[in-house]
Formats: sequence, structure tokens, C-alpha cells
Amino acid sequence: MQFRRLRLSGFKSFVEPAELRIEPGLTGVVGPNGCGKSNLLEAIRWVMGESSAKSMRGSGMEDVIFAGTASRPPRAFAEVSLLTETADGEERDITRRIERGAGSAYRLNGSDVRAKDIALYFADAATGAHSPALVSQGRIAAVIAAKPAERRQMLEEAAGISGLHVRRKDAEQKLRATETNLARLEDLLSQLD
Ligand code: ATP
Repeated sequence: MQFRRLRLSGFKSFVEPAELRIEPGLTGVVGPNGCGKSNLLEAIRWVMGESSAKSMRGSGMEDVIFAGTASRPPRAFAEVSLLTETADGEERDITRRIERGAGSAYRLNGSDVRAKDIALYFADAATGAHSPALVSQGRIAAVIAAKPAERRQMLEEAAGISGLHVRRKDAEQKLRATETNLARLEDLLSQLD
């Protein structure tokens, strides 16, 4: 999967709508300390479904919304869109938007979808908010010190099979519900006999 374009509005320090085209090859982002370079990586992580405020360097999820400065009022919402292109050339635009007091919602090519659909879309392409390909400051040390179970998770993500765990959990839930229905049916049948 290739990332083609990133759009941000009201996300952290990006108060004005901003668009970055990501061309094939190596892209570098340069700028003085505190200008928002890491916020760009966080925007990518966030649109892919990051649900931990801590890994977004905030204490609550709404901390990603532009908080205002001495000269600018805070924004009421933050929105990030990531245009992706799959290996077969299909383009998909993923948007996540958060409003103060209203939580966050996702859209895939303009249609409302669940967080789980987005997580599966990226997991099947061997990427996602927790992909080891996204290396933030201090992450190298964390990878070296990772426990075996955490290393396994990284390998599964790299292999593109982490989406299977979600599907397995879903299938197990359906199986349990079906078993309960069957037991109920057998009860009813025995009462009829
Ligand atoms: P460095 O080179 O020092 O790592 P950087 O270019 O990676 O810096 P970031 O850490 O991405 O910079 O950006 C930090 C800036 O983003 C700070 O100025 C901080 O005030 C601003 N910022 C973070 N969250 C918000 C928010 N919710 N509202 C407004 N500004 C924010």
C-alpha cells in the first residue's frame, strides 16, 4: 500500500487546512524544533485508528484538536484524510474526524464506516497505527526492550496477518451465539415431543 496524500485541518498545530502530496521515493520533512514534524506522523497514526491518547502525546483524545494560541481561538474539530493506493492500483480515501464532546468518526471514500473496518483495511495491507514501520522518537529503545509477545505482535503486523485475530474473535463470538441458539432450539423441540 502506498500513501499518496495527507490532508489535515485543525489537527494539533495544523490549524489551517494543509495538504501534503506524498510522491514515490523518499520524502523528507524539515523544519525548526516544535514546528510540527512529529505531528504529521501522529496524524498518519491517528487516521489509521490510534486509540491511545498517550501515544498521541496527549492526555485525552480531544487533545489532537487545535487548542488555540494567544492570538487564535481553539478549533471545535480536527480532521485528517489519508489517500491510499493499494497494490492493485485502487485508491481509497480514509477520513477521521473528531469533534469536541462528540467523539470521532471514520469515512471511507465518503461513506461512514466503523473504526474496526479501518483497522482491518490497514491490517490486511500489513500496516496500521501500531505498525513498526512508524518509528517515533524513543521507539527504537522500546523495540529492543520488547517482550517476546510484543515482538510476535510486530512480526504478525509485518506479515499482514494481524487482521486474522480480529476475524477469529468475530467468528468465535458468532459460533458461541449459534451454539446458544441451538441449545434453545433443542429445548423447544424437546418440549414439543
Ligand atoms: P522537534 O523537532 O522538536 O521534535 P517537531 O517539529 O517534531 O519538533 P512537534 O512535536 O510535531 O514538532 O510539534 C509540537 C508543536 O505542536 C508544539 O509547538 C505544540 O504546541 C504544538 N501542538 C501540539 N498539540 C497541539 C494542539 N492540540 N493545539 C495546538 N498546538 C499543538
